[in-house]
Amino acid sequence: MIDLEFDKQHIWHPYSSLINPPPVYPIARAEGVRIYLEDGRGLIDGMSSWWSTLHGYNVPELNAAMQNQMEKMSHVMFGGLTHEPAIELCKKLVALTPEPLQKVFLSDSGSVSVEVAIKMALQYWHSQGKPEKSKLLALRNGYHGDTFGAMATCDPVTGMHHLFAKMLPQHLFAPAPTPKFGEPCADSDTAGIQQLIEQNHESLAAVILEPIVQGAGGMRFYSPEYLQRVRALCDQYDVLLIADEIATGFGRTGKLFACEHAEISPDILTLGKTLTGGVLTLAATLCTDKVANGICTGEAGVFMHGPTFMGNPMACAVANANIDLLLKSDWKLRISDIEQQLQNELAPLKNAPGVADVRTLGAIGVVEMQQPVDNKTLQESLIEQGVWLRPFGKLVYTMPPYVISPEELTQLTGAMNRSLSTL
Ligand code: PMP
Repeated sequence: MIDLEFDKQHIWHPYSSLINPPPVYPIARAEGVRIYLEDGRGLIDGMSSWWSTLHGYNVPELNAAMQNQMEKMSHVMFGGLTHEPAIELCKKLVALTPEPLQKVFLSDSGSVSVEVAIKMALQYWHSQGKPEKSKLLALRNGYHGDTFGAMATCDPVTGMHHLFAKMLPQHLFAPAPTPKFGEPCADSDTAGIQQLIEQNHESLAAVILEPIVQGAGGMRFYSPEYLQRVRALCDQYDVLLIADEIATGFGRTGKLFACEHAEISPDILTLGKTLTGGVLTLAATLCTDKVANGICTGEAGVFMHGPTFMGNPMACAVANANIDLLLKSDWKLRISDIEQQLQNELAPLKNAPGVADVRTLGAIGVVEMQQPVDNKTLQESLIEQGVWLRPFGKLVYTMPPYVISPEELTQLTGAMNRSLSTL
């Protein structure tokens, strides 16, 4: 038996209290798109374990990649040493991401890859003789992680980090993008960010944003044209663009990378979550030759970062297998089918009382309620129906594994319909 009492007394869960702990459910195993409670009940994981398990759980190809690598070498330091799994992975990342991105820094979590991105931007400007370019411009409703550098770029209100505000570097925040995905973007929609860039470009190192999907800060999908305009402003005012594709990378929005919706390339790109198909923790920060050359010709001559588990061979090996599996699947068609099905099957909720909005993009379906939901009641009701979701505030959303079958997806959306229309 899983010792839930010990868990309750001693173990922090994400964003949780140890005095008034939220319910946690004991999970014994996972297979396909289902996670299994200790009592044997299977739940369709509508969260893909926070965007990551693209191919579901216990995937033979991913297991084999790990097993093979484990027997050769499970870990080795990356300082002064290198290995095939990392080289193979970086070749793939350079080939798959927009062409100007040529250099790869491997790290161990999304937040750290954001720290790395920020440090790259700062070191770049330092080396250009412009150390005053040290501020970032982020978007309202943005979210980039929980470490200090990343926290400082999260929306100061919805980013959940206002408690730490006094200790965080103070950056600039532009209004959240207003034109929705599929809508055109007018001059007035970028007036706010344009003004901030115009007025502050001499102290701005980079704009950092989540392309197309603002995730944890509101699950909003915005116009690719907005992103194009921000790219143009960055070029015009000599400011770098950091795109955080930790959640959107590897197909989630219907394109391999969300930047492709706008046909733009950032100067620095972060990837995480999906990189290993949710099997091991690994992240990557890519940058252009221009950024890398700048850093390496600067005062330090080196990039100042080097995590212990950088380039972990098992994580790289499973990332390689994950990417191979994705690319040889008909992922584009699967995502567009999932999108269509989510759109059709969540549509009835548009008219349900208490529902403010229903929106879908790629393999993401979002129901925004008018009031925050009672997580406990809603989760219990979903679990009864064999579904796992983690509602957040007013948002009840799903980003299922790409391998979910139409029938499983119908079970998932059916549970959302039933639970949300009776709230
Ligand atoms: N950026 C974005 C867009 C994210 O969604 C997240 C994770 N929610 C992060 C950064 C941080 O990644 P991690 O939790 O792996 O540190």
